[in-house]
Amino acid sequence: MVMKTRIAIIGAGIIGVMIARFLVEKGINDIVLMEKNYPGSGGTFRCATGIRASFTSPEHVEMMKRSIELWPMLSRQHGFTYRRDGYIWLLSEEKHVEMFKKIVKFHHEYNVPTKIVIPEEIKEMVPTLNTENILAGVYDPLAGKADCFKALLNTLEYVKNKGVKLLTGTNAEKIIIKGSKAYAIVTNKGVIEAEKIIVAAGYGSKKILKNSGIDVPLENLPKHALITEAYKPLFKPLLIDWSTASYIIQVIHGGFLIGANMKEEPDTIPRNRIDYLYLAVKIWSKYFKWLPYTRILRYWTGYYVMTPDHHPILGPHPKIENLYLATGFSGHGFMMAPSVGEVMTQYILGEKLSVPIAKNLELERFEKGEYVKEIAVFG
Ligand SMILES: Cc1cc2nc3c(=O)[nH]c(=O)nc-3n(C[C@H](O)[C@H](O)[C@H](O)COP(=O)(O)OP(=O)(O)OC[C@H]3O[C@@H](n4cnc5c(N)ncnc54)[C@H](O)[C@@H]3O)c2cc1C
Repeated sequence: MVMKTRIAIIGAGIIGVMIARFLVEKGINDIVLMEKNYPGSGGTFRCATGIRASFTSPEHVEMMKRSIELWPMLSRQHGFTYRRDGYIWLLSEEKHVEMFKKIVKFHHEYNVPTKIVIPEEIKEMVPTLNTENILAGVYDPLAGKADCFKALLNTLEYVKNKGVKLLTGTNAEKIIIKGSKAYAIVTNKGVIEAEKIIVAAGYGSKKILKNSGIDVPLENLPKHALITEAYKPLFKPLLIDWSTASYIIQVIHGGFLIGANMKEEPDTIPRNRIDYLYLAVKIWSKYFKWLPYTRILRYWTGYYVMTPDHHPILGPHPKIENLYLATGFSGHGFMMAPSVGEVMTQYILGEKLSVPIAKNLELERFEKGEYVKEIAVFG
């Protein structure tokens, strides 16, 4: 079978779906969106749903700020919940308080309204929190969360109604390049010829591109999470315990989702870590005495698709025409998806980028050694 389309997108995670959505809004609907498994089955349905602009590189801050402008409009248009419930970093060491004072100053330069808060203020926002060992916190009122399931599925339904063809169970094996132009995709179901090809396949991007003779520096880092049954709303912000780099969030559906850092090697075969449950509950039951009495519903392993500078690869391939990349979100692809959808659409249509600094995220930076710099490595 040979199919022809104007635009082919590989990967129906939040990134592929958002790219399709922004293209559709420009009147382009001759799009094939292919997915080897089912939509959302990669990182997207395994994520903690957090959204923030409080990063430490101008590239991340600007892309996330634009996303935060777009999330409310998208949630209204596609009918899913998005809320600005905030983030709080809990700091229990003096050196961390000093470091975050610098980070807050950096945020203010970019109009991200974070502030240092004292334990009493944290207690007001999170009444059942044990603040005994907390010296201070950093509060980000602009941060929030969204329903990752409906954000993807409702947006997907919208683009399908506008004519986008979703092909599930379709594994993109390689891209055919003629001369210096990407021309078609070989899949398990046949060949798809396209004027433009966008690779948004998470870690799968590495294999597709490798089979096509293109190397991208991606690593797949296992990350574990658990969620409890749903409870009535108890606190709004996502909380980060900075000393262990772990977080807890009461997601839109009411469950408490915990992500705790475990030592893992990249690119390992997925395996369950039963010791994760003990670690996650141990960290957070110091803060919440009620936590051991909640009922854990699910535990899962997902991945952060990492690049060497922990920033995504976005934009056209520097040497191959008609080939575009949107991958390597290093743990922050859900929150960034709206601005990625917008910027990728602008690249494809040859328009001015709404976030000009996104240019720094092109693949070429690794070859040139122009890695994106952060003032501190941060969540
Ligand atoms: C535990 C955990 C917590 C997280 N928390 C957050 C958070 O709070 N906020 C945030 O912003 N991010 C978070 N993330 C990261 C976030 O989930 C990802 O960055 C985001 O989902 C990436 O979206 P994507 O569309 O690039 O990738 P994916 O969702 O992985 O989608 C890629 C799709 O491509 C498909 N695919 C792969 N290979 C092929 C192929 N050869 N052919 C066809 N299809 C293919 C896959 O099946 C998949 O569906 C978290 C991740 C984890 C694991």
